[in-house]
Amino acid sequence: MTSLVWFRRDLRISDNPALQLALQSSDPVIPVYIHDPDEAYGWRPGAASNWYLHQSICALKTDLATYNLPLVILKGPLLQTLVSFAQNMNAHRVVWNRIYEPEWRTLDTRIEHALREAAMEPDIQHDHSLIVPGSFTNKSGTPYKIFTPFWRRIEPGILDYHPEFLGEPLVQERAPIQAMDGRMPSLSPDELGLLDLFPWHERLNQYWTAGESAARHSLSIAINNLPHYPVQRDFPATEGSTRLSTALHFGEISPWRVIDALRPAWSGEWGKAASRGAMALGRQLGWREFAIHQLNAYPRSPDQSTKPEFDTSAIWSTDLESLRAWQSGRTGFALVDAGMRQLWETGWMHNRVRMITASFLTKHLGLHWRSGARWFWDTLVDADLSNNTQGWQWVAGCGCDAAPYYRIFNPERQAQRFDPEGEYVKRWLGSTSTPNPEMIDLAQARDSALARYHLFRNQLGSVETQ
Ligand code: FAD
Repeated sequence: MTSLVWFRRDLRISDNPALQLALQSSDPVIPVYIHDPDEAYGWRPGAASNWYLHQSICALKTDLATYNLPLVILKGPLLQTLVSFAQNMNAHRVVWNRIYEPEWRTLDTRIEHALREAAMEPDIQHDHSLIVPGSFTNKSGTPYKIFTPFWRRIEPGILDYHPEFLGEPLVQERAPIQAMDGRMPSLSPDELGLLDLFPWHERLNQYWTAGESAARHSLSIAINNLPHYPVQRDFPATEGSTRLSTALHFGEISPWRVIDALRPAWSGEWGKAASRGAMALGRQLGWREFAIHQLNAYPRSPDQSTKPEFDTSAIWSTDLESLRAWQSGRTGFALVDAGMRQLWETGWMHNRVRMITASFLTKHLGLHWRSGARWFWDTLVDADLSNNTQGWQWVAGCGCDAAPYYRIFNPERQAQRFDPEGEYVKRWLGSTSTPNPEMIDLAQARDSALARYHLFRNQLGSVETQ
């Protein structure tokens, strides 16, 4: 009774419901990862994300080997490759954890069907979010559109719930799977072609260590830092936030593992400061949760503004020069340019600076949020369809629970407030100011943004003005 465990965005061993299920109830278990280079998805992973994926697959392979479970790595169209591999292995079932993105959901349905046709049992587990998206609604029977009531509804239950899958996998003496027979052709991670031939990505090695152990290490640092998290998380020059977003995206760590680590502090056992920190960090995980639930409820949101008048009004600039200046950190506004350089250099940007750079693009430069979202998608190692979509629609003012359109971050005032000594700017620009001239007049650009807003104010309904 052979089971395949199909790894996707759950690149870890512990707290992994699919792996645990397979290990508990059948032998042998064959772990497999399949890369589809031609996947016809609208949002194919970008170069930085693929670089990280490569590292993460290497780490998983090493970790699984310690359990005598060699990871089989394959390349090809997901459905055909999975089904034919499962048939070759005489598998009786295939177990995996669900990804709640529209393209993956459609694919899962097709794969379930194909496996049943081939007389195999598909078994899909839940692990990527805290609560299954779509499993609850607001009082009017529709998905929650506002974050605060959403979080109020789920927070108490999260604290009380201890999922069974939290824990290490069963360590058993297993016959080496290679010994089964010669039908296990596996590629090496290098053969997946996830790394560009031009080695631009070598610089990322100094900033990231992929894999489950590194993610656990980051979590323990974050737990020790909890009393300082609520304040430090807003200051980009500090190491004040957890930097767990990439590990959470690739499933190197389960969100439930993070919640579990927060429990004692959250319940007050470690004092008031740690409790406040745990609540603040829990709330950020709540935003991640909200984003996953929103994408599930509004599958077109990566390409369409939730407020459709943002797409139909022909008011957006198409000036490619402005876009390029923003992308390459040449706007002349130090905090914006520093943020864009941090992104280019490390594949990551601090949350506050993401908000400021995104506001600058959509409001001061008047470019559509999608052009910024695409750039982030290609350059972030933590590029995540639900979080990136929510982040951009929030800043642009067109998401479900978005910042009001008229709230325009002033990059100079934000710098005075959140980088008062200019440490962050200096780190990424080499000096406390940018060598480039300011590409716009901030006050004028703000007025133009407000004028644009007034153009479709009637369509937006009853939003107040500042
Ligand atoms: P922490 O402060 O340590 O938070 C812990 C975890 O909570 C994060 O790892 C993340 O999973 C989640 N989280 C924190 N803030 C948010 C948020 N605002 N929305 C949703 N989840 C959050 N996050 C991504 O993971 N991928 C993206 O592609 C992405 N794109 C963004 C684009 C824009 C324009 C904006 C404004 C935000 C975006 N975010 C994205 C959200 C946020 O900026 C990052 O999750 C955060 O900076 C990651 O750093 P951290 O792990 O140290 O966060």
